[in-house]
Amino acid sequence: MKKEINICCNCHYLGNQNEKYCPHCGRILISKCSHCGAKIRTPFAEYCSVCGKTLIDEEIDLKTS
Ligand SMILES: [Zn+2]
Ligand SMILES: [Zn+2]
Repeated sequence: MKKEINICCNCHYLGNQNEKYCPHCGRILISKCSHCGAKIRTPFAEYCSVCGKTLIDEEIDLKTS
């Protein structure tokens, strides 16, 4: 299995697989684009390299309800 990276789009914190939230700003960490599902490969990415959309998506944490 390949390692996945989780990043915070707000402060660019780079977390590992079992971290879900940013310890700096409390935002959810993401490992893939919420628009097209492409995996994030760059720790400092702000936009998806596949679909070009912003990786910051407020809807992410509200999806479960
Ligand atoms: Zn953060
Ligand atoms: Zn995308």
